[in-house]
Amino acid sequence: MASALTDKLSRLVKQMSGQARITESNVQDMLREVRMALLEADVALPVVRDFIARVKDKALGQEVLGSLKPGQALVGIVNRELAATMGEGVADINLAAQPPAVILMAGLQGAGKTTTTAKLAKHLIEKRKKKVLTVSGDVYRPAAIEQLKTVTGQAGAEWFPSTPEQKPLAIARAALDYARKHFFDVLLVDTAGRLAIDEALMQEIKELHAALNPVETLFVVDAMQGQDAINTAKAFKEALPLTGIVLTKLDGDSRGGAALSVRQVTGAPIKFAGVSEKIDGLEVFDAERHAGRILG
Ligand code: GDP
Repeated sequence: MASALTDKLSRLVKQMSGQARITESNVQDMLREVRMALLEADVALPVVRDFIARVKDKALGQEVLGSLKPGQALVGIVNRELAATMGEGVADINLAAQPPAVILMAGLQGAGKTTTTAKLAKHLIEKRKKKVLTVSGDVYRPAAIEQLKTVTGQAGAEWFPSTPEQKPLAIARAALDYARKHFFDVLLVDTAGRLAIDEALMQEIKELHAALNPVETLFVVDAMQGQDAINTAKAFKEALPLTGIVLTKLDGDSRGGAALSVRQVTGAPIKFAGVSEKIDGLEVFDAERHAGRILG
């Protein structure tokens, strides 16, 4: 495994050569490099601390201390721990509900909710052979409703009309009623976002959740958000019982440390990754590959 971190650790180990064997303090030095790598990848500081504490015991075990290549051994441990932390949980969408299964999309404005709603619609149509309806509860931005209409068309799903004059709850109830009467398998509900956490917005999405009883409540988060992702995730986790995360814009140049922060704070599995603006730019999240990316 050749990564920037492995190189750094190899250099550290070279400086230690001449010593009879690797010591605990050498391991501490190596862990400091791991810490730097995670911070550079924009993993939030408290999450980094927790993570390092968890790998420390393992790092002080024989696998590293007794190894001929302690740097590589440590990277191996870190990689496995990262992948295990991010990879726990069910990957695909849960549809185990009396149809229509409702999926509620939550997240800040610009995170990629609307785009992801359409991507998921396409995924459910093509991979799960479902009949899918979408609806927008974003009554504050008429453009958002139109945007959902356009991308839903691209996905080959049906779009339920809504207008800025309506209340989000009324829209959601009407869409659910329509979905029942027309035998849809899935109803995807796109919601309003704000540029920052907002009490009124949280209240509104809580009410939507209570009325719709969704089988999935997905938190959509922009991988480029970096350190801030932890605060956004905390706020949404407090408001809603999140069942999964979609990490968008992984085609950007961020190292994607937000994945670890958001996973740790919400406890919800990362189900999908957004990898382009296009309708087919959605992939099942690959924790192992992502661990490599975070470590650089
Ligand atoms: P919303 O406000 O949360 O509904 O966000 P949108 O779905 O409108 O997305 C905001 C912007 O991010 C749009 O320009 C999307 O095309 C873009 N976007 C969403 N997901 C991705 C992604 O995975 N990769 C890239 N490159 N752009 C994305």
